[in-house]
Amino acid sequence: MLADSYGRVATDLRVSLTDRCNLRCSYCMPPEGLDWLPGPAQLTDDELIRLLSIAVGRLGITEVRFTGGEPLLRRGLTGIVARTAALAPRPEISLTTNGIGLTRLAGPLRDAGLDRINVSLDTLSTATFVELAKRDRLADVLAGLSAAAWSGLAPVKVNAVLMRGVNDHEAPDLLQFCLDHGYQLRFIEQMPLDAQHGWRRENMVTADEILQALSAKFTLTPDDQKARGSAPAESFLVDGGPARVGVIGSVTRPFCGACDRVRLTADGQVRNCLFARQESDLRTPLRAGADDGDLAERWRQAVASKLPGHGINDPGFLQPSRPMSAIGG
Ligand code: SAM
Repeated sequence: MLADSYGRVATDLRVSLTDRCNLRCSYCMPPEGLDWLPGPAQLTDDELIRLLSIAVGRLGITEVRFTGGEPLLRRGLTGIVARTAALAPRPEISLTTNGIGLTRLAGPLRDAGLDRINVSLDTLSTATFVELAKRDRLADVLAGLSAAAWSGLAPVKVNAVLMRGVNDHEAPDLLQFCLDHGYQLRFIEQMPLDAQHGWRRENMVTADEILQALSAKFTLTPDDQKARGSAPAESFLVDGGPARVGVIGSVTRPFCGACDRVRLTADGQVRNCLFARQESDLRTPLRAGADDGDLAERWRQAVASKLPGHGINDPGFLQPSRPMSAIGG
């Protein structure tokens, strides 16, 4: 089991499959992109599956979420999902994606064993999409969303990040769109994880502001708090339900006390928090021939030292040295 010294147990593993992305969302990375990880630095499929087998077989991981970067860019993704689904005990398998390429991949991923999907959608306007993501791909994202739902990955979840003066006026429209299509929408407060270090607290659209904007058009009723568990989103019934909307107040309403997550980067580093300032290297011992017991013990130690909170609101907070795309959002 992956326990830390504050009594939390990590059961939810976020795996970054690549740091590359085909969008350049300004809250994540600069228009010119980043110095991507060189190929040999990344875990091979076999190395990744070996670590996943240790995670589910020895360490109590029950959910594996593939992310990035853009996980649909990882060659062999369908095979990785199938091999993960064959592990014992079989974990729940989910994917966070920008949706580009799902028209081709949603069905095969579903057939390979993918259980759930989150698609990121921040705007319904082509012009705003291009301004925010620096690529003209909104139509591909919307087509990918439909493909996910048609392939049986329903209910499709949608993640949206609002940026002041860019898309913050779209909160009610995004919710109406998701209600119309049967998607479950969750807004995420913008976090200081962009590679350019451009995050400013005063520019962040807060959970309070998001709820206020939605309340202009919808009646929101807080959902049963006991059902929230370790879920990061606060859930609200929309117009009496059954539809819901979530708000993830990572900065203004942190939920670190209930955190059950641990992360594995594309180059085989364990991170016990998105904002951790240290990583634990599993790739080097793995390649040097360490056995499963040794790797499991290193992983346990990496989680044991997890801090009680992410520290964003502490004086002197420093962003982690690696950006969101490398850590895996
Ligand atoms: N490329 C995939 C995608 O677009 O969903 C997966 C990786 S992306 C880093 C995962 C999620 O993190 C997306 O929903 C994205 O909007 C969100 N994200 C990225 N940078 C963020 C930031 N600085 N603050 C909050 N959420 C962020």
